[in-house]
Amino acid sequence: MKVIAVANQKGGVGKTTTAINLAACLAEIGKRVLLIDTDPQANATSGLGVAVAPGGSLLPVLLGEKSIREQIAPTPFPHLDLIPSELELATIETAFAGSDSPLFHLRDALEPLRAGEGYEIVLLDTPPSLGLLMANALAAADLVLIPLQCEYYALEGLSKILELLGKLDAMGGKNGRRILGILMTMFDVRTNLSQQVLEDVRRHVPDLLFRTIIPRSVRLAEAPSHGKPITAYDPSSVGAASYRHFCSEFLARLSA
Ligand code: ATP
Ligand code: MG
Repeated sequence: MKVIAVANQKGGVGKTTTAINLAACLAEIGKRVLLIDTDPQANATSGLGVAVAPGGSLLPVLLGEKSIREQIAPTPFPHLDLIPSELELATIETAFAGSDSPLFHLRDALEPLRAGEGYEIVLLDTPPSLGLLMANALAAADLVLIPLQCEYYALEGLSKILELLGKLDAMGGKNGRRILGILMTMFDVRTNLSQQVLEDVRRHVPDLLFRTIIPRSVRLAEAPSHGKPITAYDPSSVGAASYRHFCSEFLARLSA
């Protein structure tokens, strides 16, 4: 079982879109996938058409009141399960304030799943913040996948998350975690800016950049309001093809 956090503290860069659609593409080819929504906004939850239920999130798990397995919900999509989120998950930021090791609650909670045979891939969708939920996700992850939006401040955002990972390592949260790669999202062929940002990122972090680039696509933006990943909403769209392509590159890198 590999745990991959989809993370970037910058908002609106395509974390949730990537988490949902990568999870769906992996499940589509038969991988057993668990998506954990660690963002109180619960976008990954509603994007998969799962209702947000009070107490149905990671919150009681992180508080030590329930086991992780109790919170796993099925989704309408074969091989894909979900731990939903809820707004109350945000209260963890204050609940953990006095805790001795506030960073490691999720890592510890995942242990029973690592010991079992159930899931091959666990994806963590994370909130756009530098708070404890994000830190718990990064500390629990074996690998980090960083979506970067093709826009002007992309590189600044990237250096911030690299800095955060460095800080976490210094606090003993490393655990062998590494960065799996950077995925460029919302690429717009009509603008020079997208091309320029892509070239900048390629120059700065050539080894980390995935070859697949996710284009800006209305269908990708529409899918969550129908509670479906793109592979179910419009299976033959360019967006579906690009996430399927990314999925194979992701798997190749995962086993490299
Ligand atoms: P947050 O930081 O708020 O959690 P996020 O990083 O998870 O945001 P998303 O919610 O995935 O970002 O995407 C932000 C917005 O951009 C959403 O409205 C989403 O539908 C849209 N979007 C994401 N990827 C694409 C794309 N490739 N083409 C068009 N729209 C996209
Ligand atoms: Mg999100």
